[in-house]
Amino acid sequence: MLVEQIRQRYLETLERMEKAAQRTGRDPRQVQLIVVTKAQPLEVVQAAIQAGAQALGENYPEEGVMKIQSLPEAKRVQWHMIGHLQRRKAELVIQHFDFFHALDSLRLAQRLSRLAQEAGRILPTLLEFNVSGEASKFGWPAWEEAAWPNLWPEIEAVLTLPGLAIQGVMAMPPLFENPEEVRPYFRRLRRLFETLSQRFPQAEWRHLSMGTSADYEIAIEEGATMVRVGQAILGPRPPKQESK
Ligand SMILES: *Cc1c(COP(=O)(O)O)cnc(C)c1O
Repeated sequence: MLVEQIRQRYLETLERMEKAAQRTGRDPRQVQLIVVTKAQPLEVVQAAIQAGAQALGENYPEEGVMKIQSLPEAKRVQWHMIGHLQRRKAELVIQHFDFFHALDSLRLAQRLSRLAQEAGRILPTLLEFNVSGEASKFGWPAWEEAAWPNLWPEIEAVLTLPGLAIQGVMAMPPLFENPEEVRPYFRRLRRLFETLSQRFPQAEWRHLSMGTSADYEIAIEEGATMVRVGQAILGPRPPKQESK
């Protein structure tokens, strides 16, 4: 049965997370598992909730909202928006999601903050950085550490926005056949996180969102407090529908 299969992989993932934390002397309770349900059909998302998932990650706002509105169980879990967000879809995140991982511009931040204030809420948000220099990746450019200070003015402006609670950083590093090769990118994000915490003590820097099915154990060894795992728990994603 689908629920049992997912439960088994979910518990196995939690166990591997716990071991990875212990290997580096960390408290496993400091690491949250976000089950990435993007592109999965409703019955799989429902099964994930029934299997015990407590936080779900979606990449596309409309798809996430459809699932949130269709599932009676949706209120039992936290919904994390983990994908790139276009400004015109900001309202969907404010109305439906609990947490946003992928803030990547001041203009988007200004819009989200204004909409959040209008809705009477504060959106917990992470800053996304591109730590590899790959053109396909979103996020503020952060692959050259010597150029980090160029980012400070914009980040400082983001931190003044009243509708957002900036709580940390996120990145989507390259995929390697050998997951060990990703470690330097996780370390870079961790250094950036530490630099930001020192430089901008006005924010509460709590979260490092990094690591997917391919490399979450390494991410935890390098300090991740949130890992975003899809396929290792839910199986392969069905092929994307051609949009009309
Ligand atoms: C798809 C996705 C994930 C999860 O990837 P899996 O390979 O399914 O574990 C994590 N983070 C982001 C931003 C994603 O788009």
